[in-house]
Amino acid sequence: MKFGFDIDDTLINLREHAFHLYNRKLNRNVDISLFYDLDKVEIHELFGMTAEEGGKMWRGSLEDIYYTNCPPYPDAAETLQRLEEEGHEIYYITARPKEHGKRTMEWMIQTGFPVREDRFYYGMNDEDKVHIINELELDYYFDDKPAVLETLSGRPLNVFVKNQSYNRYLNIPRINNWSELFELLSEEQEGHQ
Ligand SMILES: [Mg+2]
Repeated sequence: MKFGFDIDDTLINLREHAFHLYNRKLNRNVDISLFYDLDKVEIHELFGMTAEEGGKMWRGSLEDIYYTNCPPYPDAAETLQRLEEEGHEIYYITARPKEHGKRTMEWMIQTGFPVREDRFYYGMNDEDKVHIINELELDYYFDDKPAVLETLSGRPLNVFVKNQSYNRYLNIPRINNWSELFELLSEEQEGHQ
């Protein structure tokens, strides 16, 4: 089977990592509970920034956000390693900017994810992910972002949403923890029989 994964906030805890970085950089102490309640992907409002200021802060912090010690979600790398050992194909489809593609791939390898260079896609818009996903004829795809997931409804593939505060309203099969994946897959296969 072919499995496709978004990276940020699907396999790794990027926004929370950025939230802590912002607190440090701005010398603030915004409470983490506010982060856990956010109903949108962007975090700048928690720091009193406008969308424009927030965009500038995010772009100006990318080096730290992407390449310091952002933690993967528990069991994410191990679960993907096991999928690969079982003979499945693992694809990554990230909207990270083109200039960060190669380094992101290297960072993912260092972090323990199973990566093949020809199965690593980056630098597209959220809306263009759907085209890559179609061309690859993926069997499964995992993402956190409502704007991406909504473009995939009605497609002949199994889509799962990685649970986040801003996607709770989506009525799509949901994964909370990566340790649940194999159980979810067997439930899903039973449902098709
Ligand atoms: Mg994401």
